[in-house]
Amino acid sequence: MRSILIQYEDSFRGDLLLVTPNHPLPHVTDIQGLVPAIPGQSKILLQAKAAESLQQVFRHLHCDTQFAAVSGYRTQDEQQHIWEDAIAEKGLPFARQFVAIPGHSEHQTGLAIDLAEQKSEIDFICPDFPRTGIFQQFREIAPRYGWIERYLRGKESVTGIAEEPWHFRYVGVPHAEILSKKGMVLEEYIRF
Ligand SMILES: [Zn+2]
Repeated sequence: MRSILIQYEDSFRGDLLLVTPNHPLPHVTDIQGLVPAIPGQSKILLQAKAAESLQQVFRHLHCDTQFAAVSGYRTQDEQQHIWEDAIAEKGLPFARQFVAIPGHSEHQTGLAIDLAEQKSEIDFICPDFPRTGIFQQFREIAPRYGWIERYLRGKESVTGIAEEPWHFRYVGVPHAEILSKKGMVLEEYIRF
């Protein structure tokens, strides 16, 4: 009984894990048990429960061919490279706005994914994930399966991150639906 409780508490805390500019990852270790976020797009990985629920959203929409997984789990080294490349290519103000400092990225949890409309050219840092059609349907349905759009317009002062229409975070059920219905971001929900 005790071990079941501990497992439950661990997974509960895990799904709601807060990683922000002010909250680094509690420990930077490579996560085990990662699987492809979208079958056939094998380089983009997520924790298995997050990947499974993402597939459920796509099954609900009867579609995954219009979606591209741009970035999922990142190691500390990968986040470091992305951070340095963004500074080199676009400057520090841009990097600060759209790339998390290494150790502070949700991508390092294996519970976050950047998605794009599938097309020939996809911007790695700011991919296009429209607010129309099947992409907007994705946003509306995703909370039923534990996923939220993480960085909302109007919540920049709370999240410390610019609006990112492409970045989704797995927080699990029922948290995602409650967050979505209340129009809250994760920082507010944890305090709620
Ligand atoms: Zn992202």
